[in-house]
Amino acid sequence: MKRVFIHTFGCQMNVNDTMRMSEALSSMAYSPTPTADNADLIILNTCSIREKAEDKMLSALGRYRQVKLQRGALIGVGGCVAQQEKNRILERVPYVDFVFGPDAIQKLPEIIQRVEADRVRVVETAWVDSESYVFPTANPNTSRGKATEFITVMKGCDNVCSFCVVPHTRGREVSRPFTEVLKEAASLTTVGVREVTLVGQNVNSYLGGISFAQLLLRTAQVPGIERVRFTTSHPHDLSDELIEAFRIEPKIMSHFHLPVQAGSNDVLKRMRRDYTVVEYLERLAKLRVARPDIAVTTDIIVGFPGESDEDFEKTFQLTEQVRYAGQFSFVYSPRPKTGAAMREAEWGSVPHDVKIARLERLNALQKRISIELNAAFVGQTVEVLVEGSSKTDASRRFGRTGQNTTVNFDGDAPIGALAKVQIGHASASALGGKQVSVESMPAIMVPEAEVAPEVCVA
Ligand code: SF4
Repeated sequence: MKRVFIHTFGCQMNVNDTMRMSEALSSMAYSPTPTADNADLIILNTCSIREKAEDKMLSALGRYRQVKLQRGALIGVGGCVAQQEKNRILERVPYVDFVFGPDAIQKLPEIIQRVEADRVRVVETAWVDSESYVFPTANPNTSRGKATEFITVMKGCDNVCSFCVVPHTRGREVSRPFTEVLKEAASLTTVGVREVTLVGQNVNSYLGGISFAQLLLRTAQVPGIERVRFTTSHPHDLSDELIEAFRIEPKIMSHFHLPVQAGSNDVLKRMRRDYTVVEYLERLAKLRVARPDIAVTTDIIVGFPGESDEDFEKTFQLTEQVRYAGQFSFVYSPRPKTGAAMREAEWGSVPHDVKIARLERLNALQKRISIELNAAFVGQTVEVLVEGSSKTDASRRFGRTGQNTTVNFDGDAPIGALAKVQIGHASASALGGKQVSVESMPAIMVPEAEVAPEVCVA
């Protein structure tokens, strides 16, 4: 048995791709190892959404060079950076054996055989036409012992947001046929999964034979599925039908990640986001009528080219007004081939220290709001789907509420159980409490020792 270590950078799509890589490699008798030091094969599944993610990949490659020298491990680079920067990777890192794009995951065994047999460097970054693209089917055994799992429902993006590399690295949108999605959800329940998150770059423009709202409703009806989530969405695809699905189906969890990116219409226009702040707020208001307890999270880019102090104040005020449960905010970094990178000189770069000062102010505001929102749960009893031991204290349990808030608690509820937890304290990022009851366990229980090791995500 040979060992493979896969270092995953970036988003949930990449985490899912890593699982599919691992499954493809099991046909070559590779088993996953949680550390690179004893690996025979090292794969970096990369992200190019921000410059920092790319820098992290290069520094990780530097660390793995030693393993190559000592053990002769093969090293491959996959994912979005591989798709976009194959030549630069091969030039800068002579010990990389192969480079492959997101559409070549199923070809991994073939790629590795070619590297081993011919001792050549292999590049496989061709797009697969949307009509011919076949989504990898998950092996449910990879998910054994987990309460919650991700299902890829589409890939790529047809939008042209001026800051984003996704259309260049993942190509045009392709939706997975809904029958495949439902089949995968059903197969996951056979190993104990009770919650699924439908993932894609822009899930609510899904076109796999039924609408995205219908897909959520149908997934919620799969026997054994108790909770349904999804990520990520574009505000202009937040349809009335999707809002209605939140009103009628309680198994769709009360959390919506709705990236706004900026609170200024001028900035949104340069970002090519296709909505105004007022339109965004109108959609959100409708959603909150349909599901009053919904937690809304967002993405914000700070220091986009041309962002003035006044523009930033509008983003700041929007955060205060919406009272997001959380946000992923980052300073803008230009990405290759994007519209914003090409027009940055024309629109005007924001100095780095100004970007950082704005980001710190925004983060401080968000932290205050998150603390206030979470503090409102103290004294309440919430329902949590148990995912395992707490990451901060292994003697405690860990799960998430319907609003996707992390809860660490004292108790003994097994993985996959829905437990009632009385909340005793709150921070900006989590709630803490004690178990008051746990449902009788209908799911397939797996001893925690058998739970697969976690994917290493940068
Ligand atoms: S919708 Fe999302 S994935 Fe598509 S281009 Fe815009 S930011 Fe990128």
